[in-house]
Amino acid sequence: MTSNHSNNTTTNGDAAPLEVAIVGGGIVGVMTAVGLHRRGIKATIYERASTWTEVSAGFAFTEAARGWMNQLSPDLLEILGRISQKTDADSSNSYWDGYTPRTREDAEDESKALLFRTPNNKLCFWGCVRSQFLKEMAALLPENSAFFGKQLLTYDDNEENGKVVLHFEDGTSATADVVLGCDGVHSSTRKTMFGPDHPASRPGYTHNVTYRTMVPIDVGVAAMGEKTAQGGCMHCGPNACLLTYPVNSGKTLNIAIFAYDAKDFPNPNRMTVQADRSEIEEIFRDWCPHAADVWKYYPEKMTKWGIYDMTDNPPPTYAKGRVCIVGDAAHASTPFLGIGACTGVEDALVVNKVLESVHAQAKREGASADAVKEALQTYSRARLERGQWVPRNSGQIGRMYQWRDGRDPEGLKLKLARAAQTITSFDVLAPLAV
Ligand SMILES: Cc1cc2nc3c(=O)[nH]c(=O)nc-3n(C[C@H](O)[C@H](O)[C@H](O)COP(=O)(O)OP(=O)(O)OC[C@H]3O[C@@H](n4cnc5c(N)ncnc54)[C@H](O)[C@@H]3O)c2cc1C
Repeated sequence: MTSNHSNNTTTNGDAAPLEVAIVGGGIVGVMTAVGLHRRGIKATIYERASTWTEVSAGFAFTEAARGWMNQLSPDLLEILGRISQKTDADSSNSYWDGYTPRTREDAEDESKALLFRTPNNKLCFWGCVRSQFLKEMAALLPENSAFFGKQLLTYDDNEENGKVVLHFEDGTSATADVVLGCDGVHSSTRKTMFGPDHPASRPGYTHNVTYRTMVPIDVGVAAMGEKTAQGGCMHCGPNACLLTYPVNSGKTLNIAIFAYDAKDFPNPNRMTVQADRSEIEEIFRDWCPHAADVWKYYPEKMTKWGIYDMTDNPPPTYAKGRVCIVGDAAHASTPFLGIGACTGVEDALVVNKVLESVHAQAKREGASADAVKEALQTYSRARLERGQWVPRNSGQIGRMYQWRDGRDPEGLKLKLARAAQTITSFDVLAPLAV
């Protein structure tokens, strides 16, 4: 095998260490960087926003994802453990008919409205507030490891010129031995990797929108009922579903509405638009009283997110040359399985592992482009199938939550049980052993 050791020594003759550029300082970019720094690898984040930016909404991590997170860096798990509301194996998620019951009593009566419960078993979600988790993770990074206002336009991976060159919208550029595109569903890294006309360069609009809010837990209990506000709970019905679960160590109830919308998203280049809460009132007009009243817990003006995914045109590979895509940039999914970020944790660990060996070699001989390319191909092979399974199955489950093909609680229960088995039994590191 030929070996290209471009830029492989420093001015005093020492082997030059591996330099990693991470495009995007979201949840996955930051946790990937934390893992790399822990392994002694220099990683620099280039984020388009002017500071760390995440929404004040809840999300949750499975027990399996927490295990991988711990391997990435125990500090990450420590943060999550400190700020999250935990479920254990004995608890369960409940799924309710949010449409048929006509009174509050009926809507809370298990014999009339409960569709089924699923045991948490090994899923055991821990829910936290996204913005808090991101900020605390970012605080683990060394100084000067993140640059803001750096929107990647394109990159140039020409080995004859030495390192990969990143070009930003503000006219500046940066170089690195490896580039990890953690720039989310509308990834510019992915677009450069495949070219603007490739189907995988554009995510698909799923015709689902989401409205998110959080309320103090006592308000949540008054709104949703004692049973439904205390654990993970999904209200299902025609063309929409309503998810609630506690976060912030149980002090806050996270509420997320997912609604099918046949129309195109108003602005296909943006993930969010302004919305009025009357839209929510309209969506749940004929539903059970809990759902019909949920609009009252939203501000009058709010943000609505359009949900895009990679189901229809998945990338054929996650790596080309010295560049790869990680997290939502590779396999953005609808949120119905609740494991988009968990899957990003898996990616982050695998990419950390493959770069760890490249780094060990770079310390001896300087960074080798061939070693980087081989490592990223290993990453891609290890992640591709999982990255396609998640969006596909999440979309199918969303259709069932929203009764898009009719009300089918038995089918939904079975599908969820099978999905939970696949999610929890997957050994993320096994593909690296072969
Ligand atoms: C309503 C909802 C609920 C969810 N709940 C869960 C859950 O409970 N559990 C779970 O595991 N997952 C959940 N997910 C999925 C999860 O949110 C995503 O999988 C996760 O946030 C992806 O992280 P990321 O860092 O890959 O991408 P993002 O969070 O999209 O971050 C990308 C970053 O890159 C930056 N960026 C974009 N373009 C550029 C560019 N050109 N140059 C520089 N920077 C750029 C962005 O500003 C951003 O900071 C949910 C998703 C939704 C919508």
